[in-house]
Amino acid sequence: MSDREEIERTWAELVTTARRTAAEGLVVGTSGNVSARAGDFVLITPSGVPYDRLGPRDTVAVDLAGRQAIGELRPTSELPLHLALYRKTDARAVVHTHAVHATAVSTLVSELPPVHYMAAALGGPVRVAPYALYGTEELAENMLRALDNRTGCLLQNHGTVTYGDTLDQAYDRTAQLEWMSRLWLTASAVPGHTPSLLTSGQLEAAAEQLRGYGQSR
Ligand SMILES: [Zn+2]
Repeated sequence: MSDREEIERTWAELVTTARRTAAEGLVVGTSGNVSARAGDFVLITPSGVPYDRLGPRDTVAVDLAGRQAIGELRPTSELPLHLALYRKTDARAVVHTHAVHATAVSTLVSELPPVHYMAAALGGPVRVAPYALYGTEELAENMLRALDNRTGCLLQNHGTVTYGDTLDQAYDRTAQLEWMSRLWLTASAVPGHTPSLLTSGQLEAAAEQLRGYGQSR
């Protein structure tokens, strides 16, 4: 595949993923953003353009230093957060949302209590990165610390970040994180009861099983 074909194909997948975040209620309006690697570039959703208006000619690409390489539209203001992940991890795709249940959890605890074994799919109990102003290097640094040995985290009073080998994988991790957040909020809202939590041993056993997990679901 030529570089150009890879960029065109990746951009089409990126737009599809960004539209899914809106269609499935993980973001409202133009909040949230999506990126993916293509060759030496990072393709990323532009700032302030509704996803249903994005077409092939709206491609935005930057290099790993953040210099614009393709397109006229400005990259999302959360560019530093995405670039930090590509520089410091093996991420190939990143999804950032303001999903409501996950964001609610980020205002309540410093770690999402492990109420379900799917936490193992994100590397263990999901941490909350301390609040910092959106678009800043400080937020990117807080996020990287929260992501140590994890593929997803919450940003305090802000939202979610997940990454993966593909856009689909990063998206699925966001959907799981939002679902687990909703699960914990639902269970912990029952008066007079406290949700039971999984032990680290139970999570480790689930992680082991998930590693062998294929198409059987
Ligand atoms: Zn955001």
